[in-house]
Amino acid sequence: MPELKFEKDLCMQCETVDCLTKCRYAGLDIPQAKRERDLLANGGKSRVLNDCVTCYACEEFCPKGNHPFYRIVELQEKHGVHPVPAQIEEHQIASLAPKGKTQFRELHAPVIDMCTFPMLKDSIRSPLFENASMFWGTDVFCNLMYLHFGRMSVSRQRLPVMIENIWRYYLEPNGLSELVCYHDECYAAFTSYAEAYGLNVPFKPVHLFEHILDRLKQLKGRIRPLNIRAAYHRNCSNRLVPETHALVDRIFDLIGVSRVKRHYEDGDALCCGLNFEAQQRSDLAKDTRNRIIEDLKSSGATHCIYNCPMCFFTLQESVRSAGITPMLMADLCQTAIGE
Ligand code: SF4
Ligand code: SF4
Repeated sequence: MPELKFEKDLCMQCETVDCLTKCRYAGLDIPQAKRERDLLANGGKSRVLNDCVTCYACEEFCPKGNHPFYRIVELQEKHGVHPVPAQIEEHQIASLAPKGKTQFRELHAPVIDMCTFPMLKDSIRSPLFENASMFWGTDVFCNLMYLHFGRMSVSRQRLPVMIENIWRYYLEPNGLSELVCYHDECYAAFTSYAEAYGLNVPFKPVHLFEHILDRLKQLKGRIRPLNIRAAYHRNCSNRLVPETHALVDRIFDLIGVSRVKRHYEDGDALCCGLNFEAQQRSDLAKDTRNRIIEDLKSSGATHCIYNCPMCFFTLQESVRSAGITPMLMADLCQTAIGE
């Protein structure tokens, strides 16, 4: 089983403890954070294990790349902390279990990994995804979702098998070496998580935004600037791959979208609240949704753009009720090139 690359000494010598002092849910000052940091570094049962709402943000806050969030999830499992009730957790683990039925399929570039979102396959169309082929399903599901469940062992066991399935049945026999990830979480699995656990990824993962940017540049003559004011809703998985977040502004610039300023964005982004519902923290989910909507309304945005389908599904109704149009990034870009 792959092991997390976590350096205890890095944490013990850390004076700022950004991972915990910047956490909006733990409420710790520096002395308190240092005490909890000591417990976490030594594998103890810190109160953070119970307070953590699995927003993923501390993975981005650590300036030394020491994987505090992955460490927290490992310790939640070790100490029997279940952020989501065990019954829901077991149901999800069973319902998304691999079926072991992957077979060779003829695919051609660009290949889009749709994760478990086949309902969005109509987004994958020309010209943004010219001649694209796709796959999805539980045999190729990245399984990072279990970070929300305090069940790191499930991700650790399943992800190497998924990587092997994708490579052996879909990419290698078709002479392909690149995979475009529709969801931030899959891209994070093949980059951040794979690096943290020393997993071999024999193909090149490509973030959806990288693919979109390349295509928009190729299709520059067809772009009709949208001339709208939009907000961007950043998702939790993107905290694992913060280097991709800057691509939002580059895409918006190319298609004539002016990004509004908001309180809850970039490093201060709020989760959509779906995981809070699963954690039975309904008041927190409601409060979070209200903050997001009020923030959007005061920003003057006419549109709110998403990359994560789960954030989109969770928030779209409330956003529409506020008179703002929710859209997925891929659909927004297709509109800009007249589709
Ligand atoms: S995880 Fe990073 S920020 Fe947190 S204590 Fe360790 S080194 Fe410091
Ligand atoms: S994942 Fe979020 S809630 Fe949990 S400790 Fe890190 S910053 Fe705090």
